[in-house]
Amino acid sequence: MRRGLAAGNWKMNGTAASLGEVEALKTAHTAPSVDILICPPATLLDRLSAVTHGSAIATGGQDCHPAKAGAHTGDIAAAMITDAGGTHVILGHSERRADHQETDAQVCAKAKAALEGGLIAVICLGESLDEREAGQTLDVIGSQLAGSLPDGLTGATAVIAYEPIWAIGTGKIPTIEQITEVHDFIRADLVARFGAEGEAIRVLYGGSVKPANAAEIFAVANVDGALVGGASLKAEDFSPIISALEAAKG
Ligand code: PEP
Repeated sequence: MRRGLAAGNWKMNGTAASLGEVEALKTAHTAPSVDILICPPATLLDRLSAVTHGSAIATGGQDCHPAKAGAHTGDIAAAMITDAGGTHVILGHSERRADHQETDAQVCAKAKAALEGGLIAVICLGESLDEREAGQTLDVIGSQLAGSLPDGLTGATAVIAYEPIWAIGTGKIPTIEQITEVHDFIRADLVARFGAEGEAIRVLYGGSVKPANAAEIFAVANVDGALVGGASLKAEDFSPIISALEAAKG
């Protein structure tokens, strides 16, 4: 019912030399049975969108400002992402929450701006290691869901990414039972709030997804794909993750 989504977050990585990786992905996945998204740094979005034009690969930004335009040096508006060929935007990534002190309320305001601008919002949530060890994971996720998600989300306008902070870039992943518990919790919360659309909103897992662990993560019923950082930078790593998702959900 929900189409799988393999999303790459290049973070602050990539120059023109990286476009060849996307050419390789394009060639390897001409008619995928899942959706593919790459969110490069803003400097590359326009060029990367030109490379993926007419292919099965969508592109997006890594953040957008709540305002439509104005005096916000260094920031990017939703319409600018669209103008550069993007269709999605990652919001509330834990690195932005940490580096830029983004709050749930700010993430929610950005998500509203993204939706008004016609972008699909990929809204990130996740607990810290301290919160996990204190047994607070579901409370933290529940509070982030309540605070970061605007009303009226649908399967066509939003994607949720569960990314335990302690699993991002560390090579550590939660147990399959832990992933299942949180994804089931998120699904129940989405259905309680958005009804049938809560069933349609895709929930991705993110945090050290690699070719070697992708299949077992994608076997979890409420995992609809992955948000992938480091392993999305090279086609030789991202391509087998896409293939694993196709095998599980395609
Ligand atoms: C991320 O940046 O969203 C992420 C999950 O990173 P990594 O895959 O490198 O852990």
